[in-house]
Amino acid sequence: MLVPLTVRDFLDRAAHVYPDRIAVVDEPDQPAPGLGTLTFAQVAARARAQAARLDRLGVPVGGRVAVISQNSARLLVSFFGVSGWGRVLVPVNFRLALPEIRYIVEHCGADVVYVDPALEHVLEHLTATHKFVLGADDDLYLDGVEPAAWADPDENATATINYTSGTTARPKGVQLTHRNIWLNATVFGLHMGVHEDDVYLHTLPMFHCNGWGMPYITTAMGVPQIVLRQVDGAEILRRVERHGVTLLCAAPAVINAVLDAAATWDGPIPGRDRVRIVVAGAPPPTRTIARVGEVLGWQFNQIYGLTETTPILTVNRDRAEWAGLPAEERARRLSRAGVPALGVSVRVDADGEVLARGNHVLEGYWEQPEATAAAITDGWFHTGDGGTIDAEGYVVISDRKKDVIISGGENVSSIEVEDALTSHPAVREAAVIGTPDEKWGELVTALVVTDGSGVTAEELVTHCRTFLAGYKIPRRIEFRTELARTATGKLQKFKLRESFGNGQ
Ligand code: AMP
Repeated sequence: MLVPLTVRDFLDRAAHVYPDRIAVVDEPDQPAPGLGTLTFAQVAARARAQAARLDRLGVPVGGRVAVISQNSARLLVSFFGVSGWGRVLVPVNFRLALPEIRYIVEHCGADVVYVDPALEHVLEHLTATHKFVLGADDDLYLDGVEPAAWADPDENATATINYTSGTTARPKGVQLTHRNIWLNATVFGLHMGVHEDDVYLHTLPMFHCNGWGMPYITTAMGVPQIVLRQVDGAEILRRVERHGVTLLCAAPAVINAVLDAAATWDGPIPGRDRVRIVVAGAPPPTRTIARVGEVLGWQFNQIYGLTETTPILTVNRDRAEWAGLPAEERARRLSRAGVPALGVSVRVDADGEVLARGNHVLEGYWEQPEATAAAITDGWFHTGDGGTIDAEGYVVISDRKKDVIISGGENVSSIEVEDALTSHPAVREAAVIGTPDEKWGELVTALVVTDGSGVTAEELVTHCRTFLAGYKIPRRIEFRTELARTATGKLQKFKLRESFGNGQ
C-alpha cells in the first residue's frame, strides 16, 4: 500500500489523539491581538477555516500563499491551513527590505499575501490579488464552513517555497515537497527524541526553512508550542521557566544571547537538566558549547543542513561512548557538524565540497531549472560548503566554499580560526576573512568583538598560537562593535570584505 505522505498527517494525528491539549501559546506582546492559547482541536479548526477561506477566494490547489510575519500562532496555523489542502505556503523573511519582499511575492506568483500588522506599510507595494493584515480583521478564517477536500493528495507536490537569504544574488525559491517535509520532520524528531511530554519554544523564525520542520513533528506528537516573537535572552529564560520548556532550536548567536542573560539571572537557571537545545545555521564555537553545559545545564545538540535539504543532513549528540571524557573534549567533539541522519548520505568531493543525497533534498528551485541543474548533479546535491569527514565519520564544515581563505597558497578554514579566537574569554564574536595582499594573495584577517576588557591584538595572536599552525594565525586583527549578520544569524562575510576593497 502506498499512502501519500502529506503535512495534514501531522495535524490530523494531533487533532485525533490530543484534541484538548494545549497546542500553542501565542506571543502575548504583538501589535494585533494574538490567538491566545489554542488546543489542538482549535488549531485544526482554524486550519480548516483558513482552507475554507482560500476556497472562497478561489485559490486553486497549487496556488501560492505568502505569509510575511514574525513568529505567531497565525503563521503556525498557516503551515497546515495552506499546505494541508494542497496549496503552497511561502513563508517570507520579515526582515528583508521591501525590494526583496516584492521580488519574492512576484517571483512565486502569490495569489494571496498576509502580512504582520507591523509590516502593513509594505502591502500597497505588493502584487497579489488578495492582501490581508494578519489579525487586524480575521478575514483569514471562514469559520464553520468545511473546506473542499484536496481531491488528489500527492506527496511529491510542493508544500512550501522557502526563499534562501540572498547575499549577493537574488534569493532562490526552494521548493519543498510534502514528502521532503514529512521525512525531514520525522527523522529530525527521531534523532532529537521528540516525545509527547516535550514543550517546545519557537526561538527560531518559523519562516526559516519552516522552523527546520519542528512545527510539524511537535504537532504530530502533541507537543505544546510556545511562540516567541522576538529573540531576547532573558525573555527566553523567563518562558523556559513559565512554560516548562524542554526543547528549543537556535543559531549560535541566540545561545550567546541566552548565555549573556544567564550572567545576570537571579536564581537557578530555568530548565537545568531538562532543556535540550538544537543548534545549527552557523558553526557553534567550542567555548559556547562548553558554556551551554556549564552555565545553563542544558543538553547541547547540533544539526547541519540547508534550506535546500529541509534542513537535516547530519546530527551530533553526546554519546555514551564519550562518557569518561573531559568536558572540553566532549565540547570539541560536539562542535563538528555530525554524522549523517537516517536515510542521508554525505561525501566530500575532490574540490572539498560537501555533497549530500537523501529524501530531504529539494525538488528544485522555483522556476529556475538552470539553478536546479547546477545544484544537483549525478544524484548528489552540492551544498556549497567546504568540509571534511574525520576518522570517526563525522562531517566537519570548514567554510562556505566562497569564503575559504587562500593565504600563501594554503587553504585556511575561517571557521577554525574563529573557533580559536572565540576560545579566548575576552572575545565575544569573531569573523575571519581573507583580505587582498600582494605578498600572500590573501591575508588572514580577523574582525573581533570583545567584552571591553581591553584585550590586545598581540594577546589574541599569542592565544591563537596554542591552537593553530603558523600560516593560519591572523596577520591582521581589527576590533569592531558588531558584525554584519543575516536575519538568521549568519555572518555576512561579503559585507565584511567590502570594507577591505574585495567585496566579491
Ligand atoms: P540556510 O539555508 O539559510 O539555512 O543556510 C545553510 C547554511 O548554513 C549551510 O550551507 C552552512 O553554510 C550553514 N550551516 C548550517 N548549519 C551549520 C552547522 N551546523 N555548522 C556550520 N555551518 C552550518
